[in-house]
Amino acid sequence: MSKNPSAITYTYAAKNKEGDQFKEYRKNGGEYNYRGGNVQNWTNVDNNKDRYAVFTKLKSGEMINFPLAEITDSWVFKNEGYTLSDGSIHASLSFNLALLEHEYGHFLQAMFLGKKAFEVISQLSLVNAAVHSTEEHRRFWTEVDASTRAAIFFGPKSDIELDKSQPKEGE
Ligand SMILES: [Zn+2]
Repeated sequence: MSKNPSAITYTYAAKNKEGDQFKEYRKNGGEYNYRGGNVQNWTNVDNNKDRYAVFTKLKSGEMINFPLAEITDSWVFKNEGYTLSDGSIHASLSFNLALLEHEYGHFLQAMFLGKKAFEVISQLSLVNAAVHSTEEHRRFWTEVDASTRAAIFFGPKSDIELDKSQPKEGE
């Protein structure tokens, strides 16, 4: 298990404590209707790079924060998704929260492994996805690593942790 993802939680929380009450965020466009909830993106009015996405569960109203990420359905085929090293998550509206959290796991990879290593991982993942079924692809190490990082980041009761169709390390 990597201990890195919990470190990023701490970094972001510390940043929030020090400065965020003085920052203003604006809603970045309309809501995206994903399976089981809506996504709204927020951007700092002074700095477009300081942003976050929020997934609000339809049933419970629970809000899941995706720090530094933006989630849209632009430039994706149906049922597909990918994540860029800057935290831009492109995901088909057929995705549920667990799948979005998995994509965020790829962003965690990018932050902790660096852009160059992440680009290599992305290529390996794309090639693997192209030649394997979805189920097989989810067992490929790049995917297990992303799901594991996401499960640590979002916590023991998160959708990604509870979704057994997305294997984590040791499963
Ligand atoms: Zn993936």
